[in-house]
Amino acid sequence: MRRYQAVIIGAGFGGICMAVKLKAAGINDFIILEQASGLGGTWRDNIYPGAECDIPSSLYSFSFALNSHWKFKWSEQSQILQYQKDTAEKYGVTHHIRYNQRVESLSFDEKSAHWNIQVNGAQPIIAQHSISAVGQLHVPAIPTLAGQQAFGGDTFHSARWRQDVDLTNKRVAVIGNAASAVQFIPQIAEQCAQLTIFQRSPNWMLPKVDRLYRGWEQWLSDKVPALAKLYRFLVWAYGEWLILPAIKGNRVAAWIVKTMCRWNLNKYIKDPELRQQLTPDYPIGAKRILFCDDYYPVLNLPNVSLESNAIDQLTTSGLRTGDGREHSFDVVIYATGFVTNPFLSEIDVIGIGGQTLSDAWAEGAHAYLGVATHGFPNLHFLYGPNTNLGHSSIIIMLEAQADYIVQAINHASANGVALDIDATVEQTFDEEVQARLQRLAWHKIDASWYKVGERIPNNWAGSTWEYRRRLRRFDADRYQRISPVSISAAES
Ligand code: NAP
Repeated sequence: MRRYQAVIIGAGFGGICMAVKLKAAGINDFIILEQASGLGGTWRDNIYPGAECDIPSSLYSFSFALNSHWKFKWSEQSQILQYQKDTAEKYGVTHHIRYNQRVESLSFDEKSAHWNIQVNGAQPIIAQHSISAVGQLHVPAIPTLAGQQAFGGDTFHSARWRQDVDLTNKRVAVIGNAASAVQFIPQIAEQCAQLTIFQRSPNWMLPKVDRLYRGWEQWLSDKVPALAKLYRFLVWAYGEWLILPAIKGNRVAAWIVKTMCRWNLNKYIKDPELRQQLTPDYPIGAKRILFCDDYYPVLNLPNVSLESNAIDQLTTSGLRTGDGREHSFDVVIYATGFVTNPFLSEIDVIGIGGQTLSDAWAEGAHAYLGVATHGFPNLHFLYGPNTNLGHSSIIIMLEAQADYIVQAINHASANGVALDIDATVEQTFDEEVQARLQRLAWHKIDASWYKVGERIPNNWAGSTWEYRRRLRRFDADRYQRISPVSISAAES
């Protein structure tokens, strides 16, 4: 039976970050279980044309592994994936990864206070600490539409791009028009005979203003790290001091961001009816604000149309909209996002007293600081409940979480205990965060992937600065200690 001090689930940005931090703390007795055959997580899965990051790479990168070789301000998927591979190699993480290892269940053994991890139906792996780094956006959401089986053409989801389906001269429907769709639509529009975008609601969209970095800029960023850090700070400040206040409802910030979005729309769209169709009727920031320069221009192409009538059903030859019109297509692409709730839905997690995580989170996921939930000792989350952002880089959050989890692991080891967050502490935190979230733009919209009823289980309520501050020091008093921990060196 294989035993480890820690098992990390997922080899994306979260898993790699956690591994680097464990190793820096001298903890090497861990593995990373990755269900796919390569690392990278979302940056391995999302290979649609034009896939790139909508957070500038100077901020969407580890603070301990700044990179002066980014080609663009907003990097393409391939360069981000390469950065992940290079970082994993440089920090000695790669040989800890076990590929094609799909975790089916985690169950906490109360006698020994360790986790039994079931993988691919094989002998369980035993770990003192389980660390979930599976992310929030990896299970494709495909809406249930009548007639789905009847459609005779090809269908696929943006995160499972079918490179074997040639779109040249095809009639293509794209369902959805958010962060993923606006990146690939400009890349495929010209090759399609006809491209119809089915828009349920428009999005606020800011200009991206991207360009290739010049050689001297990369050289300067390499030779003068202070300049690279200053640039990173400015990108961070743009999100914290303009976008976040807009999401929080600050009138001046909201006005500035809205004006920038309107200017962007008006620059490319001259037809008043189309402009109207593309103007959201909800507060800025209530859904993710998009950054894109080439989506609006393609809407002016003669072979591209925007359809706002709701989809009624798929038919053998295409789609029927609510107004009774038939639309014929060869290919339907779902750019319909991800199943974000419930969290960790694809793994059965059983904690103290046989309680399942899905039961504990039946009303929506919650976790103290996004990293720990009561009844599941020594189970740690990266990018867990209430840690998603609408204004900045998730990597800032991941680093804060990984540093905190290392402290928790060290504390548990030093005291020979498993740590279970106190139920009242977690509840107080949850009430605080939910109360603050009710006041933000995210709450002022009926539905989005951030919301489950009136609860917002996905997003953090404040600044990245505040989050980092609150995670800086692990406070053991907020945890209950569970003994004994019987994974001894002799056993392992
Ligand atoms: P998304 O934001 O969830 O958008 C899904 C789109 O599909 C929306 O336009 C939605 O319309 C539409 N939709 C969903 N169900 C539908 C239905 N039944 N009928 C018609 N339309 C439907 O998904 P996403 O674009 O894949 O982005 C998800 C998240 O991934 C983003 O918020 C972002 O955090 C992340 N992402 C990041 C990057 C990056 O560059 N870093 C790139 C892509 C994605 P409604 O708006 O009306 O719901």
